[in-house]
Amino acid sequence: MAERNCYQCSTPFVARTGHQKFCSKPCCYRERYLRKHAQIRKSQKRYYVANRPKLIAQSNEWRERQHQTKPWAPLLGTAKYRAKKEGLPFNLTAEWALATWKGVCEISGIPFVLNKRRSVFSPTIDKIIPKLGYEQNNCRFVLFGVNALKYNSADADMYAIAAAITACHRGSSIGQSVPSANKTVLASHTDRA
Ligand SMILES: [Zn+2]
Repeated sequence: MAERNCYQCSTPFVARTGHQKFCSKPCCYRERYLRKHAQIRKSQKRYYVANRPKLIAQSNEWRERQHQTKPWAPLLGTAKYRAKKEGLPFNLTAEWALATWKGVCEISGIPFVLNKRRSVFSPTIDKIIPKLGYEQNNCRFVLFGVNALKYNSADADMYAIAAAITACHRGSSIGQSVPSANKTVLASHTDRA
């Protein structure tokens, strides 16, 4: 009996019959599976090429609908990715997002702007206490701008900065002296250090 190489896995084997191509049944099935799927992929591709504009329009429409009905969906995806990357806990779910999402920022009450292009009014997921990660009771939807101001700090710092900005702005616009709100910021920083 002649020794030959399997058509599928290239392992040498001794053929029992003249036309045996495969070393084993799994290799035979695998070959059949791959051939079948190559055919399916080919016909899918033919269909795609023939209906390209229609399919692109359909997928854009679907994406647009997702964007309006589940604007939080991509946020969950990126949060999951970030949690894995930074080794933080993650247990956010679609149910949690649906129950939590109000369409407005939880800190400022400003409505989110749902554009594809990111702006300070885009929604983001904020970790209330950053080191606790993406746990359901530690997360909320806030403006990108608010999240950027808070960064990796506590709410107290963010409020102190916001108050200082407002005071400064008011002081400069009506020509009064500026209250020293930065003392609070400095105090909270030295407390945590
Ligand atoms: Zn084989």
